Amino acid sequence: MEKTTLNYLWINGEKISTSETIDVINPATGEVIDQVPNGCEKETKLAINAAYEAFKPWKKLTPGKREAYLVKWADNLLENRDELAAILTEEQGKPISESRGEIEGCATFIRWYAEEGKRVYGEVITGSSENQRISVIKQPVGVCGLITPWNFPGAMVARKTAPALAAGCTVVVKPASETPRIAIAIFEQLMKTGIPAGVANLVTGKASVIGETLLEDRRVKKISFTGSTEIGKQLMKRAADQVKRISLELGGNAPAIVFPDANLDLAAEKIVDNKFENCGQMCNGINVIYAHEEIKEKLTEKIVNLVKELKVGSGSVPGSDPGTDPIQIGPLVNEAALKNVEELLQDAKEKGATVETGGERTGDSTGYFFQPTVLSDVTLDMKLTQDEIFGPVAPILSFQREQEVVEFTEKSPYGLAAYFFTRDVNRVYRMAEELDSGMIGVNGTSLSVPQAPFGGIKESGIGREGGFYGLEEFLELKYISLTLE
Ligand code: ADP
Repeated sequence: MEKTTLNYLWINGEKISTSETIDVINPATGEVIDQVPNGCEKETKLAINAAYEAFKPWKKLTPGKREAYLVKWADNLLENRDELAAILTEEQGKPISESRGEIEGCATFIRWYAEEGKRVYGEVITGSSENQRISVIKQPVGVCGLITPWNFPGAMVARKTAPALAAGCTVVVKPASETPRIAIAIFEQLMKTGIPAGVANLVTGKASVIGETLLEDRRVKKISFTGSTEIGKQLMKRAADQVKRISLELGGNAPAIVFPDANLDLAAEKIVDNKFENCGQMCNGINVIYAHEEIKEKLTEKIVNLVKELKVGSGSVPGSDPGTDPIQIGPLVNEAALKNVEELLQDAKEKGATVETGGERTGDSTGYFFQPTVLSDVTLDMKLTQDEIFGPVAPILSFQREQEVVEFTEKSPYGLAAYFFTRDVNRVYRMAEELDSGMIGVNGTSLSVPQAPFGGIKESGIGREGGFYGLEEFLELKYISLTLE
């Protein structure tokens, strides 16, 4: 797959170019990789027109026929896994094995929804009079605007597009400006399936312009967005003008809580795996580590030892295979992300945090690299315990009572994920029920699987992705009352 073939939008099954372009930067080098189209109102309208025209015939197809396109799409992604992973890493920065895993994850998600699309069932309800018959059917919402972020730029395109198409919706996707090429490449594999023109469209360009065009057009019936809480709130306010349906997957502030009875080796390993995946840029990633006072020192030592082993470098290092990456930490996505991490760290240090390892920029000055960092003596007045760090910094706090960590989640405006480690089954249920969060990980941190409802409460979002719940986001209920003669 040549780089130069990724310079276009996908509208109505065709490649479209624009005169204005946006630079795409490699975060490992700071160099411009490519220029993608700066799609504006005109291109977004064309994409909406195409999706609108394609909707009725797509909705009428049997789910089995829609499934066939989705399965081919998943197969194409797997066949081209390595080329796609290279494109992803080049613009996003993550180690190549993580990118390969992400492309495989896209295929898994798409296949799951291809199947699940066949299981959209209705209901028959007893009438209120002898001759009334009530049925409830589920129908696709219509044209959907899907806005995706840069941290999982492949997975998020698949995770939104697959359930939308499986449900019978048509889509206009707007990928993040930092990572548009992987979305274009993933769409290329979808177009190769021969899917009817207009069913899936992709517009790269200025977010506010494309977003506003999607919001303002009455033919777009739903917006599904993953990104910051700040932008999510803006979209929700605008969507209210037309009472447009909306799903939001926003920021989080996930604690990882380690109790004295936990398997500490397991806890340290899982915490480090999760915290430093994708250079710490993961919405359901651990933000703060709460270690019980009794085991705080032991746990800190184990975490620090593991973190010291992590190697930082360009994710595109050639010849690396899954599981044998020479590096585990790529660059942050851009200069702003790097500065944000530095500022949060500075604030923590000024308020008394101790740097156990890391704490500095690293690599040559052109890439956005930061050392994996562990902080102890962390307190709740430090900004990084309240805001999403989105970088490779692991702050460790200590606690004594369960209620302290429950209160931490209750007071937080976020509620995406919470993790804890214990061997006490009573505590498992007690904590799982009390922690104020949409998702709970006990003795493990893997949450993103196609069959489970991924999503948050409070300012972490509305709606779920994954499972039948994720399909419901793209379906409307219709109640039919039949009166017999
Ligand atoms: P992040 O901090 O992850 O970059 P953003 O919320 O800024 O989160 O971006 C997530 C996605 O939302 C990206 O595709 C971005 O281009 C898009 N986006 C940003 N601002 C707007 C907006 N005003 N309207 C619609 N989409 C937007």
